[in-house]
Amino acid sequence: MSRREFLKLLLATLTSIPLSACADALDLQPPLQPTDIPPAADPSVAPQNAAPDTPLMLPTASAGSNSAPWDVIVVGAGVAGLCAAQTLQQKGRRVLILEARDRIGGRIWTDNSAGIPLDLGASWIHGVRGNPIAAVADQQGATLVFTDYDDMQRFDAAGEKLSGDLDRRVEMLLDRYIERAREYAESQNHDLSLQSALDAVLRAYPLDIHDMRLINYAVNTAVEHEYAADSDQLSAWYFDTQKEFDGNDAIFKRGYRTIVDFLAQNLDIRLNHVVQRIVSSNSRVALIAAQGVWHAQTALITVPPGVLQRDGITFEPPLPAARQQALGRIGMGVLNKCCLIFPEVFWDDATLLGYVGERKGEWAEWLNVNALLGAPVLIGFNAGAYARTLETQSDAQIVAAAMHTLRRMYGNTIPNPSDYRITRWAADPFAFGAYSFLAVGATPEDYDTLAQPVDNRLFFAGEHTQRDYPATVHGAYLSGKRAANEILRLLK
Ligand SMILES: Cc1cc2nc3c(=O)[nH]c(=O)nc-3n(C[C@H](O)[C@H](O)[C@H](O)COP(=O)(O)OP(=O)(O)OC[C@H]3O[C@@H](n4cnc5c(N)ncnc54)[C@H](O)[C@@H]3O)c2cc1C
Repeated sequence: MSRREFLKLLLATLTSIPLSACADALDLQPPLQPTDIPPAADPSVAPQNAAPDTPLMLPTASAGSNSAPWDVIVVGAGVAGLCAAQTLQQKGRRVLILEARDRIGGRIWTDNSAGIPLDLGASWIHGVRGNPIAAVADQQGATLVFTDYDDMQRFDAAGEKLSGDLDRRVEMLLDRYIERAREYAESQNHDLSLQSALDAVLRAYPLDIHDMRLINYAVNTAVEHEYAADSDQLSAWYFDTQKEFDGNDAIFKRGYRTIVDFLAQNLDIRLNHVVQRIVSSNSRVALIAAQGVWHAQTALITVPPGVLQRDGITFEPPLPAARQQALGRIGMGVLNKCCLIFPEVFWDDATLLGYVGERKGEWAEWLNVNALLGAPVLIGFNAGAYARTLETQSDAQIVAAAMHTLRRMYGNTIPNPSDYRITRWAADPFAFGAYSFLAVGATPEDYDTLAQPVDNRLFFAGEHTQRDYPATVHGAYLSGKRAANEILRLLK
């Protein structure tokens, strides 16, 4: 059973219980640094700044770029872009991918530099039954390792292991209070944040300090980590309205990169090509990077919403207002990982370790990689505001903060990590966050709006364009399929 399924099932079964009954010497790896955006394309190949009602002049293709128009140029070699490009190429279309990074995969990023496949972006196939990513994994014979979220050892703030009773209480409090918050939100005539709704319920049914810690921990690990946003950002009406696949969650034994490499086979991908401007006319589209100008019949833009929200690409003419407004409403969340590689295993066998600390949202959940892959690695997760705060700190400070919590849990004699990997997804210039979420004021229709083509010339894919399964790898994959089919219908 997946974590989301687990949460929903509990919600369904517990709603009838009355609320009154109730009361997470280092070999330094350089941090991820923002990559410099290349200078503007050579003005001699740049389009003229046309007035809105003046026909736009397309820049001419320059040396180093291909002057023969492609059928489709895909911007971004994440799962959405790779899936779309494969689909189009297999139908005989001429496809080129321009990718800003020096690697493919985007928010799938398996780091093998420590000799262990560490997924610094996505880790799990969420729900393997009917999931297209599970089908691709099956097709290529990838080995999956299933995760049991019930296999959890929690600790209190003093580092004592939580008893079975307190473990059950965490889940009971979460389900009752989230459900009551949901009911409260639905009784309001405007959307509000999940935290505002929870606060209203907590005012009516106050909790003592111990139960407050439990519910803060539960909201952080079960909701904020899942949606990569703080509960005071999430829409109480819509935060969890997406669909899910059944079945267990699974990770890839050799890392998520397995899927990416498979999808990238035989594609023409130009790395280190940051698309800066996209200029469309009635007949074609021009994509401008520092290296030159590329022309195509259509462009498929798969860059993350964080990049679009910061105008990382200039569109000429500008994108429709409805689209910009939808982009402004959805949120781009943050979830970061701190992978600590130890000389030896000193922790429990449980798949997940939870820390119910004094302060909400700080180092509350750890993945025991030893339980899944047999490697002496713990991965600490942080989301939302705390994750953004940590990003401003040095690697040494982040590792020290992580170790402070682990020493609370396992004592002062545990060894320092021998190596580590730290993500900073909010600062990543080709993502500006981990994945999208429905912020207060946003609705699921916003995902539909972001999926709409513009003038049958510009097409869009990516997790943020998939209303049913946003914020996931399978959502990105399905969006790539959908966009490829839209283009194929047009080009036939
Ligand atoms: C820490 C973390 C954990 C996650 N965990 C899971 C999980 O367990 N399971 C799950 O299903 N999902 C998870 N996700 C979400 C999942 O990774 C994403 O939803 C999915 O990978 C998005 O794919 P995409 O193709 O839409 O975007 P991306 O993978 O971001 O691809 C977009 C590409 O566009 C490129 N690009 C950006 N700007 C430009 C430009 N100007 N020019 C050219 N190229 C550009 C980027 O470099 C990138 O390669 C996680 C994400 C993160 C960050």
